[in-house]
Amino acid sequence: MPYRTLEVCPRCKQDAPVVMVRSPDRKLCLYCEECEWAWIDPKDIAIVEKGTLGIYWDVVPANKDDIAQGGWDISEFEVV
Ligand SMILES: [Zn+2]
Repeated sequence: MPYRTLEVCPRCKQDAPVVMVRSPDRKLCLYCEECEWAWIDPKDIAIVEKGTLGIYWDVVPANKDDIAQGGWDISEFEVV
């Protein structure tokens, strides 16, 4: 089940970004499925300019283990 941020995307204000694993570097990222904006650091999620257009990234939703491995705090996200 995907994990999402507790706040909606600051760029499109439509949808909450999802925690994703990016291939091939296996980095965690936050990815807005609505406007395809992405952030590599969850601390930057409130700042649109710290993100980038992730449209060409190869991403899949992260599970609990991916999030733990990436060192992110799972309590900052909610399961949807
Ligand atoms: Zn968005």
